[in-house]
Amino acid sequence: MKLDRILPFARILLEKAVSPGDIAIDATCGNGHDTAFLAQLVGENGKVFGFDIQKAAIDNTFSRLKERGLEQQVELVHAGHEQLKQHIPSKFYGRITGAVFNLGYLPGGDKSIVTKPDTTISAVEQLLEILAPEGIIVLVIYHGHEQGAVERDLLLSYVRSLDQQIAHVLKYQFINQINNPPFIIAIEKR
Ligand code: SAM
Repeated sequence: MKLDRILPFARILLEKAVSPGDIAIDATCGNGHDTAFLAQLVGENGKVFGFDIQKAAIDNTFSRLKERGLEQQVELVHAGHEQLKQHIPSKFYGRITGAVFNLGYLPGGDKSIVTKPDTTISAVEQLLEILAPEGIIVLVIYHGHEQGAVERDLLLSYVRSLDQQIAHVLKYQFINQINNPPFIIAIEKR
């Protein structure tokens, strides 16, 4: 057998948690790969909220969705995920079953614009309030760049401190690979 690689494993987790008709969140749209994946999972009767601070990322994501006929079930928000609760109507609270963060910089974009630990943690805290029980937050941590290593350390320390009555936290990582490959933190709300 082959162990699941990091990005496929992130999708396996989301697939297990998100069903047709659900609400899901892509906290870092980038080029829209995960937004499109979540849009397929929720289907026509569900909804995905996608966030990004870069207009180019929102535009790229919209194009990807449109090419696949998935734009109807997605609301793209040109704002930071730290403003998550301001942009998600309260009627959806408790119905969000999955959220994904692909941290770091936009591939093919400006490498100086990266996710930051304080805003990432703020978004995770807001999500833990509004997620459905057994909903999942999947964070893919890229720690090969300098700020990525700082974000990794602060995030790990934050998730380790989460009360186990509130959430189960999993770390999924290949530990003998060179060049600091990405790894996953998955948080299941109890
Ligand atoms: N999942 C994406 C894809 O499929 O292409 C890749 C995401 S990329 C690694 C990280 C993205 O996070 C960038 O597009 C960046 O603009 C965005 N970002 C950085 N800070 C953010 C924030 N506070 N809120 C939302 N998005 C942010």
